[in-house]
Amino acid sequence: MVLGLNGELKRKVLVKKIKKITNLTLAGRNPFKNHGIVNPPIYRTSTVLFENTKELGEAIKNRFNRTYYGRYGTPTTFALEEGIAQIENGYKTIATSSGMSSISISLLSFLSKNDHCLISDCTYYPTKKFASKILSKFGVYVDFYDPKNLDSIKKKINKKTKLIFMESPASLTFEIEDISEIIKIAKKRKIITMIDNSWATPLYFSPIKKGIDISILAATKYISGHADTMLGLITTKNEKLFLKIKDTAVSLGDCPGPQECYLGLRGLRTLSARLENHRSSALKLARLLENNDKVLKVLHPALPKNENYDLYCKFFSGSTGLFSFILKETSKIKIYKMVDKLKIFKLGFSWGGYESLILPVFPKSERKIAKWNEKGVLLRIHVGLEDVDDLINDLFNAFKL
Ligand SMILES: *Cc1c(COP(=O)(O)O)cnc(C)c1O
Repeated sequence: MVLGLNGELKRKVLVKKIKKITNLTLAGRNPFKNHGIVNPPIYRTSTVLFENTKELGEAIKNRFNRTYYGRYGTPTTFALEEGIAQIENGYKTIATSSGMSSISISLLSFLSKNDHCLISDCTYYPTKKFASKILSKFGVYVDFYDPKNLDSIKKKINKKTKLIFMESPASLTFEIEDISEIIKIAKKRKIITMIDNSWATPLYFSPIKKGIDISILAATKYISGHADTMLGLITTKNEKLFLKIKDTAVSLGDCPGPQECYLGLRGLRTLSARLENHRSSALKLARLLENNDKVLKVLHPALPKNENYDLYCKFFSGSTGLFSFILKETSKIKIYKMVDKLKIFKLGFSWGGYESLILPVFPKSERKIAKWNEKGVLLRIHVGLEDVDDLINDLFNAFKL
């Protein structure tokens, strides 16, 4: 392979010694096997040719680990997968066409008829909907747990429980799960653990080092970082998990385009600089909101007053740009009028790009177990890379804070 370096002992020794931030700039590329060019090329293909029938035979046997056919990935896909696997401390990564396809492919890889799975009730709603509407159609028992109540997880586990799916923090209300305790519960019973790690990214939390089996990233968000790419990444702890998920992805026909993989890999190069900026601006804004009389509550786990703060400190080495807050004002009409006055913060789904976003959200209707009882409109914001003083002025003017 043109780009692959994983097999080289020298490289492995180097990777162990260097820090993660440096590795973000090195992982998944090898300029001197590529005409000295800094970034890997975008390989486009459907067909891969074999020199003779012997090589064809070998390719069939080894199809999940080499160029084989376009749907199985190109060297551009492999460069991204190799880079992410190193940052995530995983065995191997599988790139998919979106964050949501990474989630559905991972769940489908392990769940069969009559299996029971547990999903945090605070998880990204499309994940919950996929489980309750589609997995259940195929005879999987889908159950939701309250991430703040370990006893409720223990009580729900039965002999058929195959998988626990976490999201920490939850991306609307920012509950942090006691991941180590959940892993302990799962390991005793040989239950597979998965986590949606899109908020923290592997830079601020390493799920696999903590003992989680599968770490999922909506690379659409911080990894690509420019609101111009749909991409998902699944990193596995070992070969067995990798082969199972790769087989499912290929069978379902999911494959990200090489252009998307290139953009994901390019995003990785600047992830540490971008995240540091998102982190500090978001914290500055969150602290100001927390000390303002017109604000009822700020849901940011890195604020010491937040109920998730201790768990945040236990697991995360940094926070990012996404958090929520609730105003004391409860009139939806009045709040919507204020939102419409914003000039820099724009209304829109998603997050993780360079630009600031705001979204009124209503967790109450999405929750079955972890009931949401806060009155007032929850406003979720993504703090982008603009000058933080401009962002503060924009928000404080529009909301008359
Ligand atoms: C956006 C998002 C996803 C889904 O990613 P897509 O690329 O939009 O499919 C999954 N999990 C979380 C927490 C997200 O915010």
